[in-house]
Amino acid sequence: MISRAELGRGIAEDEFVLLYQPQMTADGRTMASVEALIRWDHPTRGRLGPATFVAKAEECGMVDELGRWALARACADALSWPDLSVAVNISALQFRNPHFVDDVTAIVAAAGFPFSRLELEIVETAFIGDFDVARRSVEALRGLGIRIALDDFGTGYSSLTYLRQLPLDKIKVDRSFVEGVSTVQSASIVHAVVALSRALGLKVTAEGVETTEQHDFLRAAGCHFMQGYLFSRPLPREEVTIMLIALGQLPDALGAAKA
Ligand code: C2E
Ligand code: CA
Ligand code: CA
Repeated sequence: MISRAELGRGIAEDEFVLLYQPQMTADGRTMASVEALIRWDHPTRGRLGPATFVAKAEECGMVDELGRWALARACADALSWPDLSVAVNISALQFRNPHFVDDVTAIVAAAGFPFSRLELEIVETAFIGDFDVARRSVEALRGLGIRIALDDFGTGYSSLTYLRQLPLDKIKVDRSFVEGVSTVQSASIVHAVVALSRALGLKVTAEGVETTEQHDFLRAAGCHFMQGYLFSRPLPREEVTIMLIALGQLPDALGAAKA
């Protein structure tokens, strides 16, 4: 089993890595941003996905440290992609830490990364508890220019209160609805979420887009951004640069020098 000591050692030994999954514009042709997704290159267990260690890090009080590492790394990596935004996942516990906003401010400033190119993906459960405190944190982050996306929308409480009372920028429609868009129920849910989000002035990203049929439906439904294996799997940093060059979004010479 993974212990606190092992997580600490992993951070100290620099065993964690971030992969970046492109988030495309609705037509699928332009990379608008990337989402940072953590992996652990464990010396004996091989590459581990977040499902095997993020909850454990939350349990044993290591998630703040892991989260600070991920944010710092994402900002440093994204500096080599001019104009691209980077989205970083924030665990509910990390968001509720009273130092969270100060930590984010310090880390992003130290990296010299523009706040306006950072997006934080926060799950609904982060807002349960002291809603006023959560709202103030979101307001403070947005005051810096950071954008806030509500992750996994539709899987948790999905209270309309969050949408109305939190100054969010974006909603990410969970993969489970995207998977089922050929069914009347999921298709209706996607239509309703897009209509509601647009009415509130929010952007909508569809997660887990795997087929052209799903893409066509989601685009027609009005989703602003698309993310999924149809466009790209999560990539190492260097491969994002290569994809940007291939898309014509980064000049070849600059890209090759920075990769
Ligand atoms: P998420 O934020 O919902 O991230 C999307 C997950 O869906 C990622 O899994 C991604 O690899 C996967 N995915 C993307 N496109 C497709 C697709 O077309 N089909 C399918 N089947 N899957 C797709 P991953 O990387 O294993 O991450 C799982 C979860 O772990 C994330 O879900 C997020 O909640 C969490 N996570 C990842 N990185 C971090 C991190 O740095 N910090 C924290 N706190 N959580 C993280
Ligand atoms: Ca996410
Ligand atoms: Ca998600």
